Amino acid sequence: MSQLERRPLIAGNWKMNGLKASSAELVRIIQGAANVGAGADLLICPPATLIMSFAEAARGSRIAVGGQDCRAEPSGAFTGDVSAEMLADLGATAVIVGHSERRTLHQETDAVVRAKAAAAWRAGLTAIVCIGETRAEREAGQTLAVLGRQLDGSLPAGVSAANLVIAYEPVWAIGTGLTPTSGDVAQAHEFIRERIVATHGEAGQAVRILYGGSVKPSNARELMAIANVDGTLVGGASLKATDFLGIAAAYS
Ligand code: PEP
Repeated sequence: MSQLERRPLIAGNWKMNGLKASSAELVRIIQGAANVGAGADLLICPPATLIMSFAEAARGSRIAVGGQDCRAEPSGAFTGDVSAEMLADLGATAVIVGHSERRTLHQETDAVVRAKAAAAWRAGLTAIVCIGETRAEREAGQTLAVLGRQLDGSLPAGVSAANLVIAYEPVWAIGTGLTPTSGDVAQAHEFIRERIVATHGEAGQAVRILYGGSVKPSNARELMAIANVDGTLVGGASLKATDFLGIAAAYS
């Protein structure tokens, strides 16, 4: 399957940012999206507290709404946690799992991430599974080994284009303003594509692989032109409608 046949996805990860008043920014994104990025799917993942109101505001628009994490269990004595079913109940259609901040700050292992991805599928959500190497791992020449290990450990059986998106996010590029060279991104994405197909069969050809890490309007076009880069997961720049839409414009 060629890159052209995979519909790109621009996903915004708001992290722990946003209050009720942030719906004004969402409205700007919804309105602006009518004019840019016609060739791409657009997704905003606000904090859990805003999913319901964002999903209601975005209903009927081009903007889909997703969660940033979920617990693997559907319900139970897990104080403070949110299940995939709860996200779906609020109107989310996707959920990020295994973000490096979760892997680092909450000690999430590949097995935990795999269980969360399976939970997302159980609830009918698309799982956006994040993988990526640290700076030390890159400098030690371990990047592809790390990506292979994370892919093997984090993906449940039964992947499809509808239920899975992979986000390659070098940890050292997140929020730092640093990005890998185009050659490094191309190598990582080609490796990820080959690994998914080898492990999960031809369905892996249709799975979208996003690049994430300091993407902004000024570098989006170059990054998105790389083979096997089927869109982007955007952190900081997704908080501002002009920046998020400027990135989406790479697909106009
Ligand atoms: C992220 O946290 O997923 C991310 C890509 O952040 P940023 O765009 O701010 O580097």
